[in-house]
Amino acid sequence: MDLAEYKGVYVIAEQFEGKLRNVSFELLGQGKKLAETLGEEVGAVLIGHNVKPLAQELLNYGAQKVYVYDDAALENYNTTAYTKVIEDFTAKHKPNVFLIGATNIGRDLGPRIANELKTGLTADCTELGVDDDKKTIIWTRPALGGNIMAEIICPNNRPQMGTVRPNVFKKPEPTEGAAGDVIDEKADLTEKDFLTKFIELIKVGGDGIKVEEADVVVSGGRGMKEEDFKEGGCLVELANILGGAVAASRAVTDQGWINPLFQIGQTGKTVSPKLYIAAGISGAIQHLAGILGSDCIVAINKDEDAPIFNVCDFGIVGDAHEVLPLIIEAVKKHKG
Ligand code: FAD
Repeated sequence: MDLAEYKGVYVIAEQFEGKLRNVSFELLGQGKKLAETLGEEVGAVLIGHNVKPLAQELLNYGAQKVYVYDDAALENYNTTAYTKVIEDFTAKHKPNVFLIGATNIGRDLGPRIANELKTGLTADCTELGVDDDKKTIIWTRPALGGNIMAEIICPNNRPQMGTVRPNVFKKPEPTEGAAGDVIDEKADLTEKDFLTKFIELIKVGGDGIKVEEADVVVSGGRGMKEEDFKEGGCLVELANILGGAVAASRAVTDQGWINPLFQIGQTGKTVSPKLYIAAGISGAIQHLAGILGSDCIVAINKDEDAPIFNVCDFGIVGDAHEVLPLIIEAVKKHKG
């Protein structure tokens, strides 16, 4: 493999029902920095059906080129077909780097592509850099239960690949109407490339705001009760009136009080909302790993020595079942 032939940093953009995921913009911001250091271009690959109008948004967030695979057969995510698209793209354009969101889709797609292309992939990176001498990407991620940060490189194979969770990096400011190239592509797909068939989409958690994209996250821990996470419960009520999403600690998801998709932390989701309310959560290091990018953390805990109070912006020592109804009442009054 002639490594010098491989150029460009590409974000595999993710869209769902015609809307790009924020993580694609966050990755373009990082991709641009990497590309500048490497002296290469940053671009995006966009796959789906009727998705071409989304390309301008990717240009606005920094892509210089957007390659669009718009095909009715690609309307719904399909592991093998999307992998084949990226294989075709790689054979034609020889990208140096792929950045992928560590979403459900990205976590499925990334390893499959890496396997087909016989290259390496670093999952759940928290930092991306460039080795100045070798001009390779340095993928940094926590290892050994979060006790060390490992720097991983992919020196002998291309493309270099990594996934990054939503909200690890800040979204850059967009430039409306930014110039760039939008290039129509066509993948060489046959029936054999679709090993599974889309039958029905069942949304877990309904059509509500996604926890990783919410401006307000109301999160409950073991100090709460199961009914607090259900419709009419105090966590749900507060989230609804603040236009936010409900989330939980692992102690809660392990007990089955709420779907694990709503778990925040090292083995859950990373969030960076404007406001994170932690009720009845002690503040274990594994939970904090998912919330420290929040603009403002409000903690409610009846133990004044709970570690969450070391990281919060506002702390309330008290029983969350007494405090939350007061907050709900106050917000309702404020909203009139
Ligand atoms: P607890 O630690 O039991 O805390 C409950 C808190 O509620 C206490 O501080 C208590 O004072 C308070 N409380 C009780 N009653 C009330 C009340 N009425 N009003 C107010 N406060 C009250 N955890 C995660 O959250 N996310 C992860 O992704 C995650 N990943 C992990 C990965 C690994 C490898 C390991 C080993 C652990 C992981 N954990 C994770 C678990 C983590 O270590 C903690 O066990 C967990 O976060 C504790 O959840 P908690 O704060 O809800 O429960």
